[in-house]
Amino acid sequence: MQELEGKIALVTGAASGIGRAIAQAYAKAGARVVIADLAADKAEEAAIAIGGNTIGIAMDVTDEAQVEDGFARTLRELGPVDILVSNAGVQIVAPLVDFRFDDWKRMLAIHLDGAFLTARAAMRQMKDAGRGGSILLMGSAHSHVASRLKAPYVTAKHGLLGLARTIAKEGAPDGIRANVMCPGFVRTPLVEKQIPEQAKTLGISEDAVVRDVMLRDTVDGEFTTLEDIADTAIFLAGFRSNALTGQSIVVTHGWYMH
Ligand code: NAD
Repeated sequence: MQELEGKIALVTGAASGIGRAIAQAYAKAGARVVIADLAADKAEEAAIAIGGNTIGIAMDVTDEAQVEDGFARTLRELGPVDILVSNAGVQIVAPLVDFRFDDWKRMLAIHLDGAFLTARAAMRQMKDAGRGGSILLMGSAHSHVASRLKAPYVTAKHGLLGLARTIAKEGAPDGIRANVMCPGFVRTPLVEKQIPEQAKTLGISEDAVVRDVMLRDTVDGEFTTLEDIADTAIFLAGFRSNALTGQSIVVTHGWYMH
């Protein structure tokens, strides 16, 4: 039997990058997977590319009605979710003194409102189904450390630790676990976009951004890979008891150690 055979998993922001790699790994491990992302066509394309029992749906995680509709559709078409990966995210970099209030609010809405709305919907289905579940929130090394130019990102990623710990306490009686995955830099579109932006803001070369800013504090100067995070997501989703709940798992080549 495969590791996630018969499980139903919903992954947000899964049309691209890390979410897509996790969706693919879950499908390979036997799960039926819902790819939830902003645009239906991109989500459906990703679902077709991944194959198996995978569907793609449109869901803006900041919109309560879209989140509720997406979970209702999942229930109708596949059944109640066993695994949620709240992964959708964006990055906006600027010095705090120049940060636009609209951008600050948008960042907190995607990362925090999105995690709350999807976790709430998942917990309701998990409680009703009575078979427990695993909620994974996509944190970051920035759930533990700060970097310049990333005020709302660092704030939101720290906030996810509090949300996961609360879900862990409230979910425990129903066998619902919650953990935060904290990757270091992974070369996805989100990071590729930042390299020239940071080079411009900091007045240094793109190579210097990678070497001296992004990977400076790792033990080996290496990027974290999509496979590293997918493996972690499989491990956490498949873990069988409340022994591992309310934790953050840091996967950063030693950038942050705790
Ligand atoms: P990505 O840009 O490749 O993918 C992000 C996806 O989220 C996109 O498909 C986008 O359409 C979707 N999305 C954005 N806003 C959304 C919304 N409101 N509703 C639904 N979907 C939305 O980025 P990625 O690097 O794969 O990032 C995924 C997550 O991993 C983010 O939470 C990010 O903060 C986190 N993370 C990334 C890195 C990294 O180095 N790439 C490191 C640590 C944490």
